[in-house]
Amino acid sequence: MALIVHQFPCLSDNYGFLVRDAATGKVATVDTPDADAILAELGKLGWSLDMILNTHWHPDHAGGNAALKTATGAEIVGPAEVTRIAPLDKALVDGDVVMLGETRFEVIDTGGHTLGHISYHDAKNAIAFVGDTLFALGCGRLFEGTAEQMWASLQRLTDLPDATTVYCAHEYTASNARFALSVDTAPAVTERADAVFAARERGEPTVPTSIGAEKATNPFLRAPLLRPDAPSPAEAFAEIRAAKDGFKG
Ligand code: ZN
Ligand code: FE
Repeated sequence: MALIVHQFPCLSDNYGFLVRDAATGKVATVDTPDADAILAELGKLGWSLDMILNTHWHPDHAGGNAALKTATGAEIVGPAEVTRIAPLDKALVDGDVVMLGETRFEVIDTGGHTLGHISYHDAKNAIAFVGDTLFALGCGRLFEGTAEQMWASLQRLTDLPDATTVYCAHEYTASNARFALSVDTAPAVTERADAVFAARERGEPTVPTSIGAEKATNPFLRAPLLRPDAPSPAEAFAEIRAAKDGFKG
């Protein structure tokens, strides 16, 4: 049965995600950017929180764990690294399965942004929550992992079906689009960038995206095409990532 996703802006540029298993009414939040905002959304929806699914330890993803645990008693699952800053009830690793009612999330190791970063994939509903690994037209910064690790993580995500709906944790798309235009002249990239700028002018979100759209236009995924002389795909990715880190757009 369906998974209902309620997306709302949080902090300065995060998204909050409340998900509800339609069959059983069980509710989870993907990450905890802002406990008060999440509690307010739960109140508006009339939902009660059963679970917290963390993607990584950064404060804008796990900082609300303690307050939400106190307020709701929800079970917290995520990578072990979360315990650096917040409570965790169960540590997850690659290949683990998390059940929210009848919805089955498979855990995918997507380390690189942080070493333990994970993503959650609901194959039946073709939905993935990817935290700060893959963004619309972008990818997470390499705070802890290597380019090689991040490239492998991105491959795990691009192995998912093209129609997979991808919920990334930040609205960074306009700035990502400016960078994409600086390294990629493909018409599909220009077209998408125009659509992104127009959507942001209208105040509309550009998240979610899809695996297919990212494969076609995301400069980090297209790195081997954009840097054909690089010795390996991971090194091509490293070059694009370094260019973005130094990009003043
Ligand atoms: Zn992060
Ligand atoms: Fe973040």
